[in-house]
Amino acid sequence: MKLFDVYPLYDITPVRGDNVYVYDEKGQQYLDLYGGHAVISIGHSHPHYTEKLNEQLHKLGFYSNAVKNPLQQELADKLGNLSGCDNYQLFLCNSGAEANENALKLASFVTGKSRVIAFNNAFHGRTSAAVAATDNKNINAPINSQHDVSFLPLNQLHSLDYELVKGDVCAVIIEPIQGVGGLDEPTTKFLKGAQELCKKHGALLVLDEVQSGYGRSGKFFAFQHHNIEPDIIAMAKGMGNGFPVGGILIHPSIEAKYGMLGTTFGGNHLACAAGIAVLDVLKENNLITHATEIAAYFTEKAKNLPHLKQIKGRGLMIGLEFEFEVADLRKKLIYEKRIFTGGAGNKNLLRILPPLTVQKEHIDLFIEALYDVIDNK
Ligand code: PLP
Repeated sequence: MKLFDVYPLYDITPVRGDNVYVYDEKGQQYLDLYGGHAVISIGHSHPHYTEKLNEQLHKLGFYSNAVKNPLQQELADKLGNLSGCDNYQLFLCNSGAEANENALKLASFVTGKSRVIAFNNAFHGRTSAAVAATDNKNINAPINSQHDVSFLPLNQLHSLDYELVKGDVCAVIIEPIQGVGGLDEPTTKFLKGAQELCKKHGALLVLDEVQSGYGRSGKFFAFQHHNIEPDIIAMAKGMGNGFPVGGILIHPSIEAKYGMLGTTFGGNHLACAAGIAVLDVLKENNLITHATEIAAYFTEKAKNLPHLKQIKGRGLMIGLEFEFEVADLRKKLIYEKRIFTGGAGNKNLLRILPPLTVQKEHIDLFIEALYDVIDNK
């Protein structure tokens, strides 16, 4: 059977991973500064993670959400403790798209409205609020959407006010750092203003932390750089370190009702084991503080690179914007230097989203490789 050919592929076949490195079928080592798109939070095949998953697999991989699963509560307790959001309620699902869909569905139930506001260049997965990394507009446009989604310019409170005043909006969904779109950020003033306007007009503020959450920005959630209190927080990616786990955190003011949300696989035993192991390692190894320290080191090392326009992002969700398009650079980094990096809607932006276990020596390797490939461009 033919695979449905939707992904342009690099000609590399990773078969094994160990912390910040992956290995292809010939044993060739690659430095992974991409982390499968911000998914690998605690490093590939971390021993605590593989042990916990293995142990659980031999006990019970899955049953159903119709019976008690104490692992869900353990995950919720550890997540509440590490994130500081322990007064929120947790609903578990399997991916970022699902987390956002559940967030919008919930917002619609709670407010009795259905229109959604998102922002230009946002990316919320293949959801009804799908969009819009600059050059993918058509591919990611919402199809058969149950929500009518309007896209506004980021950081313009007056246009948000203009839309919210109409009274038909259930949710304003926003990435605290735009991932796929290219690392633009809402300002604190905008986020605080959006929170106020949502309250005033009866809409919920949804923070999409699918890519920026789980310590990547140097705080557990990136919105915590801005001192706001979202109604719903969507998470996935780093939450399972490669095992598909997603979820939403729901403000205590929102009351659950039986049947409101539901899922077959969400919160299954294996997913919880993966999620718990990730939280254990993040905490035990102080990886969130470490992300901030490595980011400062990275910025210092990278700031004098030739043709660099600016450094964008926070923590280990960081990008180098060059005066030229970076597609060739990324190819050279992979095929000649054996280093994985990421791209963005902004074609001049070279992104790194490494495991939070990355060390200064790996940053040194990367910067040295960059000087080389830029020199030989
Ligand atoms: N939201 C954001 C901010 C993302 O970056 C992504 C994926 O890149 C998603 C949602 C979708 O997540 P998933 O691919 O797990 O559905």
